Amino acid sequence: MVVVSSGERPAEARVAIVGGGISGLAAAHFLASRTRARVLVLEAEARIGGKVLTRDLGGIRVEAGPDGFLADAGLLALCRELGLEQELVEALTTRAYFWEADGELRPLAPPDMRHAAVTGRAPTRFLALRGGLDSLMAALARSTPHIEVRTKATVRSLREAPGGVVLTLEAGGTLQADAVVLAVPAHQVARLLADVRPVAADALAAIRYLDLGVIALRYPGQPWQLDGSGFLAAERPDRIISGCTWASAKWPHLAGGEDTVLRATVGGSGSRTWAALDDQGLVAAVHRDLVAALGPAPAPAASVVTRWPKGIPDHRFRDPAGVQQARVALADSRVLLTAGGYLGGGMASCVADAAQVADAMATLLAVGAPA
Ligand SMILES: Cc1cc2nc3c(=O)[nH]c(=O)nc-3n(C[C@H](O)[C@H](O)[C@H](O)COP(=O)(O)OP(=O)(O)OC[C@H]3O[C@@H](n4cnc5c(N)ncnc54)[C@H](O)[C@@H]3O)c2cc1C
Repeated sequence: MVVVSSGERPAEARVAIVGGGISGLAAAHFLASRTRARVLVLEAEARIGGKVLTRDLGGIRVEAGPDGFLADAGLLALCRELGLEQELVEALTTRAYFWEADGELRPLAPPDMRHAAVTGRAPTRFLALRGGLDSLMAALARSTPHIEVRTKATVRSLREAPGGVVLTLEAGGTLQADAVVLAVPAHQVARLLADVRPVAADALAAIRYLDLGVIALRYPGQPWQLDGSGFLAAERPDRIISGCTWASAKWPHLAGGEDTVLRATVGGSGSRTWAALDDQGLVAAVHRDLVAALGPAPAPAASVVTRWPKGIPDHRFRDPAGVQQARVALADSRVLLTAGGYLGGGMASCVADAAQVADAMATLLAVGAPA
């Protein structure tokens, strides 16, 4: 058995974090920078970031997961703390459209007003990072020497032991930590807790997720006059896309180039016709929809397809009570959840919840601020 250890910090507390997306990395950063804990992040994939993924589109960096985030105070403070303030860019426009079932593209109410109507809070801004959102992931992972990140390290199961938690890795071998943070989607948490904490597992298994895909496209020149940030599409049997971001009209760092960059979304709702198509078929079908919505254009010069199985929680069935129930069922354990990814609100919510979990972990393990 390997005992979690990272950096030179005396062994005040050893915390393992399962999942190297923004929730896990933010929790690792808050814990390692604000307390005397040493943190090991275990990430299943070969790269960190989870849903935050910046990809190459014929020489341009485009977002294949979230393309930006709400200008929430906690996330902004984190960007400043990590020295990324100069990298922040604000969306150039908030004008958006709805592609109606009758084929018309009609303006939507401004998103800041929609946000204010839903949340009751002041209108907000939408931000991104010039160099790509993956730069935030890299900055979090290297923010203190007391964080160690291990990739290709899938956690298969966990078991509670006196004074700690034992994790078994898919590749074989076990790790013992004083406590664990589960920073993976609700369905993955449910799988890990099924045998050890079935009440918590059942509460989280009830949270449904939707499959979706993001198709980034680069069109030569300016085939359309794009006056806004994009559109949402009404469902119709002969349509495949559920929405499209006009990335080079929306973001300053993508504007001003010779080409037009778009990001179409498929799925995320009831229709699953797209899932049967291979990447080439998907790009052709998305192009056909864009021509129908925006007008004629030559075929895209470059494209990149990213599929997200169980990519987002289905907020029609959102159940904050289920998360609360799971947390109550874990209250006497050394296993904490970061639930920002499934409580809703995207990256900002992940960071806010990770900060709270880090505080709760500091209290649980009685590890105060670094000397
Ligand atoms: C297409 C798309 C568009 C989005 N758009 C926006 C947006 O514009 N703005 C916004 O704020 N949010 C947006 N979101 C939501 C946002 O991306 C998520 O809320 C956030 O990234 C979730 O982060 P997370 O760390 O909680 O989970 P994840 O990103 O899912 O990270 C979990 C990590 O855990 C790893 N893992 C899973 N199981 C194990 C295991 N057993 N052992 C070890 N590791 C494991 C996974 O590989 C993954 O890296 C979007 C999401 C998608 C998919």
